[in-house]
Amino acid sequence: MENQIDEIVDLILTSQDIIIFTGAGVSTESGIPDFRSPGGIWEKYNPADFTYQRFLSSEEAREKYWQMSTEFYHSMKHVQPNPAHEAIAALERIGKVSSVITQNIDGLHQQAGFSPEKVIELHGTSRSVSCLSCKKKYSRDVVQELVGQGVKVPRCDECGGLLKPDTISFGQAMPERETAEASRRSGECDLFIVIGSSLVVHPAASMPFIAKENGAKLVIINRDSTPYDNLADYVIHGSAGTIMSSILQGVKSRITPIQ
Ligand code: NAD
Repeated sequence: MENQIDEIVDLILTSQDIIIFTGAGVSTESGIPDFRSPGGIWEKYNPADFTYQRFLSSEEAREKYWQMSTEFYHSMKHVQPNPAHEAIAALERIGKVSSVITQNIDGLHQQAGFSPEKVIELHGTSRSVSCLSCKKKYSRDVVQELVGQGVKVPRCDECGGLLKPDTISFGQAMPERETAEASRRSGECDLFIVIGSSLVVHPAASMPFIAKENGAKLVIINRDSTPYDNLADYVIHGSAGTIMSSILQGVKSRITPIQ
């Protein structure tokens, strides 16, 4: 593994436009479970119950959605960025990361200090809520207070429309601007690094393919194998926090301070 880390450090130092692509696995070391690993959310809930269409069509489904989402909100409320988020933010500060494309909804890249305008959230954010009718935006904490007081399905105080966290549900359209921007940047970069994603959720998972097809080198850092491992130039299976800390250390040790 050490050799591979050295070679990835070389790649980082010689690349001009680096994209970091993250999934739930970059945040498990902060204490947020991923969806597909043992103990993940889909062992407890059935994803078919949480489609956008069901949310729109049934009060019972909306109640269930808010119950699941409230559980996720509480598990996320006091989490902190971990060494992987910190290493990614540090790599940006030393000028080595152009953007983060994330499937995560937890906001931890920004909390670790990564420039918010360079984080593309493909699946939205759990930190705000919107009215599906008039689009009024609410802070998540404010809406959760209502839920905590017993409101099972919160509604817009302006127009009575349905409130939903600004996360993308199954069956809900991907955010157009973010998806287009992520595809464009993936196609332009010269190094694409995947960290902590099973690479099975599309269209997000097509980004490494777009990058590779357009000539970028592809690095995958993930605990388990992914459908793209054969396509990658380097694959390291292990902890995102440990591996990213070693990579950051390697990069720092090779950058000569300006005299
Ligand atoms: P996933 O659950 O499908 O896969 C996570 C991957 O991360 C797994 O392959 C696992 O092997 C790997 N992993 C777990 N812990 C790791 C660690 N410490 N170091 C390295 N690898 C680790 O997640 P996904 O690919 O992001 O797709 C699931 C969807 O669920 C996404 O759309 C995402 O929006 C959402 N989600 C987000 C969060 C979050 O915001 N933190 C949490 C759960 C799910």
